[in-house]
Amino acid sequence: MIDFEYARATNVADAVRLIAADPRAKFVAGGTNLIDLMKEDVERPTRLIDISRLPLNKVEETADGGLRIGALVPNSDLAYHPIIERRYPMLSCAILAGASAQLRNMASTGGNLLQRTRCYYFYDIATSCNKREPGSGCSALNGVNRMHAILGASEACVATHPSDMCVALAALEAKVHAAGPRGERAIPFADFHRLPGDTPQRDTNLNPDEIVTAVELPAKGFSKNYTYLKIRDRLSYAFALVSAAAGLELHSGVIKEARLVLGGVAHKPWRDPAAESFLRGKTANEAAFTQAADLILAGAKGLAHNAFKIDLARRVVVRALTQAAQGTPQSRSDKKIR
Ligand SMILES: Cc1cc2nc3c(=O)[nH]c(=O)nc-3n(C[C@H](O)[C@H](O)[C@H](O)COP(=O)(O)OP(=O)(O)OC[C@H]3O[C@@H](n4cnc5c(N)ncnc54)[C@H](O)[C@@H]3O)c2cc1C
Ligand code: SF4
Repeated sequence: MIDFEYARATNVADAVRLIAADPRAKFVAGGTNLIDLMKEDVERPTRLIDISRLPLNKVEETADGGLRIGALVPNSDLAYHPIIERRYPMLSCAILAGASAQLRNMASTGGNLLQRTRCYYFYDIATSCNKREPGSGCSALNGVNRMHAILGASEACVATHPSDMCVALAALEAKVHAAGPRGERAIPFADFHRLPGDTPQRDTNLNPDEIVTAVELPAKGFSKNYTYLKIRDRLSYAFALVSAAAGLELHSGVIKEARLVLGGVAHKPWRDPAAESFLRGKTANEAAFTQAADLILAGAKGLAHNAFKIDLARRVVVRALTQAAQGTPQSRSDKKIR
């Protein structure tokens, strides 16, 4: 058992003050990832700042027709929110493809963005891991790397980002709102998570003294032609080997706009403007989807145990875009259970 202090933030300004005062402190929201990491001795915060009672649990419509989701809205509440189900069903499906009903009840929107990789070596403090201990080496690079990255990886780290929700948020071009000692700012979703480069210890561009306050969705939700397709080792309660969020705007079978994001393949949700702009103006058919798959996977590189993911991802892209075009999204694996 490690020693740590506990403090409860009374409001956002108090949370920022508390975190800025102690660089080794951590916020705790639902605790479903952080507490596990503390039990495994991976995270050793000197202080937990409990933000779970801050008034950041509302889903509100914005003036420009979008939606502002408070950082403490539980994953279950978000997935089953009537506006999300109606206008952003891709997000609802992605959330329900993750974890279990119990976990989704606890997990928060902000915590989901900031959950850490599921690389086995990151969790095993007996092994070298540059993300856990910068400069110690990457055990996965030449170790068991079946679930690891095929895109955007570096010699320093080949981990993947595990979230399902974030894949849909990337496709919907969400923004992350943050508050810190220097004020408030909005971060486009594509700039929120980072590739590992030579600083794999940093998962995101959020500063350590900032708190996520909300996620904002623009008006466009691709509610007619969308899917979230997740391929995993078990049908539930497993992280993605490969997933895809796809959204299409179609006019008489021709693609006016396309969004395509892969999960389970990189250190961040993987989106490639070349694949999306290629699809624009094309007839929605298998030939176009296959070429889009080739484009989004152009730089893919397999390791000893995960090269199968390249072909798997290619098939996932074609199937996801086909489901989106036909308006037959992957059925939700979960009935309304809490
Ligand atoms: C067994 C298991 C299976 C799972 N399967 C899946 C899955 O298939 N797909 C999937 O997407 N997820 C899965 N999850 C992950 C789960 O979704 C995350 O654990 C959860 O979303 C984290 O949210 P939380 O509120 O509990 O975060 P916490 O554990 O409280 O926090 C996580 C991190 O975020 C930071 N943090 C939290 N809120 C804020 C904030 N507002 N501002 C700044 N920092 C913040 C904390 O300091 C901490 O570093 C699984 C988890 C478990 C335990
Ligand atoms: S892949 Fe990243 S998280 Fe996994 S062992 Fe290597 S450095 Fe650590």
